[in-house]
Amino acid sequence: MLREVAANLSFALQYLQQDSRVRLLSYFDVLTGLAKRPLFCQRLKRALRDAGSMRARYAVAVFDVQNLSAINDAFGRHCGDLLLQLIAERLKRRFPDTEMLAHFSGGTFALLTPVSQSTASCMPSLNQELDRLLEEPFLLAGSDVPVAVRSGVAMSPDDGDDPDVLVQRAEASLHNAKVSGQRRGHYSPTQHSEALARVALERRLRQALERREFELHYQPKVDVKTRHIEGAEALIRWRDPERGLVSPAEFLPVLEESGLIVEVGEWVIERAALECRHWQSQGLRAIRVAVNISPIQLCDADFVERFLKHTRTWSTNECGLDVEITEGVVSGDASGQIGKLKALRAVGVKIAIDDFGTGYSSLSRLAQLPIDTLKIDRSFIADMSTGARARRLVSTIIAIARTFNMVVVAEGVEDQEQLDALWHLGCDQSQGYLHSKPLGAEQFAALLEVCGERGLTPNAAAEMPAAIKSRSRAG
Ligand code: C2E
Ligand code: MG
Ligand code: MG
Repeated sequence: MLREVAANLSFALQYLQQDSRVRLLSYFDVLTGLAKRPLFCQRLKRALRDAGSMRARYAVAVFDVQNLSAINDAFGRHCGDLLLQLIAERLKRRFPDTEMLAHFSGGTFALLTPVSQSTASCMPSLNQELDRLLEEPFLLAGSDVPVAVRSGVAMSPDDGDDPDVLVQRAEASLHNAKVSGQRRGHYSPTQHSEALARVALERRLRQALERREFELHYQPKVDVKTRHIEGAEALIRWRDPERGLVSPAEFLPVLEESGLIVEVGEWVIERAALECRHWQSQGLRAIRVAVNISPIQLCDADFVERFLKHTRTWSTNECGLDVEITEGVVSGDASGQIGKLKALRAVGVKIAIDDFGTGYSSLSRLAQLPIDTLKIDRSFIADMSTGARARRLVSTIIAIARTFNMVVVAEGVEDQEQLDALWHLGCDQSQGYLHSKPLGAEQFAALLEVCGERGLTPNAAAEMPAAIKSRSRAG
């Protein structure tokens, strides 16, 4: 204890002599009296240096109070602060060498402890130690409040011997535990490299937006009976200079997690509007182009304005942009989102439910929603030729669409047999490789030129190259 007091005093004096109370405060957390991150890392550095000569092992555990914000909300901020002080007191009682402890910020504590066994074998005892420390509830405002923590651990020398790296890795494993819904995380190089790859991809996607590397491809939706092109769906692609054309499945999750989808989604709207308008000005068949809207985009308060500013001035009944959303967006309490869809619909934008049949929309809910079109998920279409059950399902979806006066579109139609079956069932429109794969803007314009008036016939593909050539000559 004396050694510790002396160390802390000499540390304090050193800084007070330099009249830097501010710097002192940047090393100690006033609330708990524990070290902050920079001081903890300095101390860790010293411990690791000493350990090196004695070949000792250390574990850095970083843990987070899971329910701190709920406690702040329920009992007030002062009780949240009190809880952090009480946790610090318990830690100090259990680990009297306070040099080993830290409070990084808002409920994230760190602990450095020597371990005798290998990484794998000491994890359970370390976790038990934490559990035991916090198993008794804390008395806050007269109530016993249980506290749950998540933790992440990194060990020296196995996971690194640089103090900053070790702390970062313990934090990374805490982050991984949070993301995967687990209570305990241990640093794993695979998870770490996955996290790094994700961060790198996010950075490259930001660049891709700045450098205009995204493009839209268009897939026609055709009338099942006449084969006329009734509309198109805009599908995003990334022309990555390193890998070529990348499909959305590879990068959409990162766009959504990072929130970048709001900006990229607006680019999609802007681009689709520009191209749709351009085709119209060239005298091609007027069509409506549907853009896919992610739930996160729809949550954006300015979504309606962001959409309409690109379409308001030029769209007509026959030519303009529509919206595709998935069932999840409008399930549960989504009154805000539904209000936005209604606002769009009021000015003539058609709303489609994409991948219909894979979510959990109830019929009563469907009746209340502002929906114009149901798109039958392609998995049902694929199973139609082999299973009577899938055929019955498709038939039921078509009947539902009829009941609510909705247009019904089959997705992923790949062969004539499926199209014939859809014709018999009374499906309105069909979209899929049978008619055309998604095409770049220029190719799609050529398709409109060749098939705009007479419908999509099997020999259209043969006529397309000449149309593309003449279009590129024209300008
Ligand atoms: P989706 O909206 O259901 O789009 C249909 C997907 O099925 C497209 O995949 C299309 O290329 C593919 N497809 C069309 N016909 C066939 C067929 O006959 N057989 C098969 N096997 N597949 C067919 P893609 O372009 O890879 O897009 C995948 C998903 O990514 C889309 O599913 C949509 O949910 C999402 N997405 C695409 N573009 C955007 C976008 O601009 N914004 C947002 N938020 N999501 C987008
Ligand atoms: Mg879609
Ligand atoms: Mg779909």
